[in-house]
Amino acid sequence: MSDAAPSPESLPAKPAVDIASLSLAALTLWVKDELGEKAFRAPQIFRWIHQRGAVDFAEMTDLSKDMRAKLAASARIGRVEKDLEQRSVDGTVKYRFRTHDNKLIESVYMPSADRKTLCVSTQVGCAMACTFCMTGTLGLKRNLTAGEIVAQVHAVNREIRREEGLQIYRPLTNLVFMGMGEPLHNFENLKTALGILEAEEGPNFSHRHITVSTVGLVPMIERFGAETRVKLAISLNASNDEQRSKMMPVNRKWNIAALMDACRKFPLRQGRRITFEYVLLSGVNDTDEDAARLIELMRDLPAKVNLIPYNENPGLGFQTTVEKRAEEFRDLLDRGHVAAFIRQNRGRDIAGACGQLANVDGPKPAEALQGPELP
Ligand code: SAH
Repeated sequence: MSDAAPSPESLPAKPAVDIASLSLAALTLWVKDELGEKAFRAPQIFRWIHQRGAVDFAEMTDLSKDMRAKLAASARIGRVEKDLEQRSVDGTVKYRFRTHDNKLIESVYMPSADRKTLCVSTQVGCAMACTFCMTGTLGLKRNLTAGEIVAQVHAVNREIRREEGLQIYRPLTNLVFMGMGEPLHNFENLKTALGILEAEEGPNFSHRHITVSTVGLVPMIERFGAETRVKLAISLNASNDEQRSKMMPVNRKWNIAALMDACRKFPLRQGRRITFEYVLLSGVNDTDEDAARLIELMRDLPAKVNLIPYNENPGLGFQTTVEKRAEEFRDLLDRGHVAAFIRQNRGRDIAGACGQLANVDGPKPAEALQGPELP
């Protein structure tokens, strides 16, 4: 290694702005102030990226060659590249994407008769360290940018269009933020991404068709309610603090009482309920007493409980509740007037199910070559 100071020519140019991470308002400012172009160019560029899924300025054929060259010189379109695709027997597809700095993230496509849902990641890894979750074992590598969050949606739309021979730009109908990471731990980027996804000049998703799930970062739940319009899901997973603190370290900071308080204050839109996710762990949180406590917690809340059969992860030491007991547990909740559903388990055979996203399957050429990341 040379210790000579770099010559001016070898200094990197001003880093290109990732314009896929900008809201339409921010892009408009950038187009005027940085690019020196008219404001009306912004929605044009925005539509190319977020409606048609353009990944290169060369595709923007209604912009002059000059303007495309100018754009290419000062901006980039943040994107993710498909790295691996795994198909489940039930139709679920797990996509693994590579970011520009060689990080791996996963998104899970779940088609059904009446909707096409994508489960989106918001971080590389996760800092929450829930003891039963595979992503939790990775630790947090970094936040995804708004552009990288949205790019998962564009990339999967592109795959579906190609595969199903569809002409429409946006075959996906529903989004759930239940992939890798804790969405409310990356709130600013999440919020920008939601704005882009809901934009009329963009993919134009309805807020009714978007759900964000959180481990329960209490102060952020309030901001989330005030600053976004999408639906809320809470990963409750336990019926008392002793249990929950063992499973979810976040509970040591904001316990169940604080969490339920935030839920009661949450500004629910008409007809909506908060979804509570409850992973069923055999002998841990599936007893009759658990059901009784859960009923008590849900009292007077517009809520529904999604019981998730645990997807066993080797080495984490938890077992799933057998189907018969899961049904009994649901019936107990029903009798206590709590709407409860056993969530259909999808993508298990490809480790694409809840709590199994950890990029462990398949070849990892770049990582294998480069070895572990240095601090
Ligand atoms: N961090 C957010 C978003 C991820 S959602 C959150 O936790 O809400 C992922 C869901 O899968 C959470 O409800 C989590 O409790 C659940 N989960 C984690 N590991 C699981 C596993 N092995 N089997 C079934 N569900 C799991």
